[in-house]
Amino acid sequence: MALRFHNTLTGELEEFEPLEPGHVRIYSCGPTVYERAHIGNFRTFTWEDLLRRYLKYRGYRVTQVMNLTDVDDRTINAALESGVSLGEITRPVEEQFFVDWATLGLERVEHHPRATEHVDGMIGLVERLEERGLTYQRDGSVYFAIARYPEYGRLVNLDPEALQPSGRAEGDEEYSKEDPRDFVLWKGGEREEGGDALWDSPWGRGRPGWHLECSAMSMQYLGESFDIHTGGVDNIFPHHTNEMAQSEGATGRPFVRFWLHGEHLLVDGAKMSKSLGNYHTIPDLLEIGHRPSAIRYLLLSAHYRTQLNFTLDGLAKADHALDRLEEFARRLREVRAAAEGDAPTTDSASLGAVARRARAEFLAAMDEDLNVSDALSAVFMLVRDANRALDRLGDRAAPEEVESALSVLEGFDATFGVLSLRAGESDQTDAGLREWVEERIAARLEARRERDYERADAIRREVEGRGIILEDTPEGTRWKTGTGTISAPDARR
Ligand code: AMP
Ligand code: ZN
Repeated sequence: MALRFHNTLTGELEEFEPLEPGHVRIYSCGPTVYERAHIGNFRTFTWEDLLRRYLKYRGYRVTQVMNLTDVDDRTINAALESGVSLGEITRPVEEQFFVDWATLGLERVEHHPRATEHVDGMIGLVERLEERGLTYQRDGSVYFAIARYPEYGRLVNLDPEALQPSGRAEGDEEYSKEDPRDFVLWKGGEREEGGDALWDSPWGRGRPGWHLECSAMSMQYLGESFDIHTGGVDNIFPHHTNEMAQSEGATGRPFVRFWLHGEHLLVDGAKMSKSLGNYHTIPDLLEIGHRPSAIRYLLLSAHYRTQLNFTLDGLAKADHALDRLEEFARRLREVRAAAEGDAPTTDSASLGAVARRARAEFLAAMDEDLNVSDALSAVFMLVRDANRALDRLGDRAAPEEVESALSVLEGFDATFGVLSLRAGESDQTDAGLREWVEERIAARLEARRERDYERADAIRREVEGRGIILEDTPEGTRWKTGTGTISAPDARR
């Protein structure tokens, strides 16, 4: 089966093979660390994690780079407004980013380079462009001359003549340009009150333009040509268009083989964004009781190239879908423990046949440009059909067939990472519950020691109110939940 991705460069689904057999190199545009990322940003980071995990599941080694934009207009303005250094703004936001990253169960990528630590590489790239005659200088700033680079704009498939400057304001208008389409590579610093956001360069003090960092850092960590570059659709123009021009203009070689772009997370039909103020952060959602696994599931439940409208109702549905999957996994594990293996069935509705079909459909869907909708349908079909088979078979299910159904779920979770995330959440709940019950048992013992039986009984009722049963034994008080004993006698007797 061939893996295919939609390549923005050609507008088509294309068969994917990495340049180096078995090893995929990916660059993903990372956050601008001036304010905590919202779940719209995390929608992009989460499908990028899905891509990474699926490639690994398919047996590839992955080297992925995600930059941290810790110098640009937004970070500098935030520092100037607060009267602090750039690092005082960016470092705490970086920390929040990694907390949220871990909360959503995103895998750490191999490299998270900071722009401020790679300015030398960016200067080197501008020098290469200069040698090739693709730049000009004005008032200490250096620009990319689009008119001298006919290949400009191939990613957006537009005639360079027709391109208008747009997208994220880079403050270019403050600078004099030969052509309004040109973009800044190096911003002369004397106009900036940038404090610690100034570096020495052959053109005087200044700082790099935003697009330059991704060209320099991707090539440093992944080589001049690599396999996949990802980002949100808002990055296609001008950011990735300019990145491609800078990189290919400097090296004369193809920069990226596959450009993958994800659609936005919306709120009431509008892009979730800081500027519109229509955003939620991960802690906002945790605060009102939502689970990280449900947030992750929701963000992954729509194909990356379709828009996804965020609602709290959608989040509740995601949570419910996960409950079903979790319940199914639990049932399979219980049957596995009890399975006797003397009744393997051979008909097409048998557990083994159902599992084989689900696996094939899951892989076929994911191979086709990460078609999560079909992949999830295959998984939920498995839940339905396997539950029916188990209803018929009970303990007579053959262990290898149960195993086969479980391994489909494992493959699903190696890629989606939602069940493992949820299991961690339950452990935390269990730990919290255990602590609470043990404290209550100690309080009850204390009450009994003081012969305050009324208080002791009140504590028992309080604990039972949460579905916990207490059992006094000669060794101490045991406790169990409705589903089974989970405690040893209380040692603090
Ligand atoms: P930024 O921090 O603005 O540089 O954005 C980091 C990443 O988040 C980029 O890949 C953006 O395309 C992406 N992004 C921003 N807003 C959204 C959104 N509402 N939905 C999905 N991705 C987004
Ligand atoms: Zn970038």
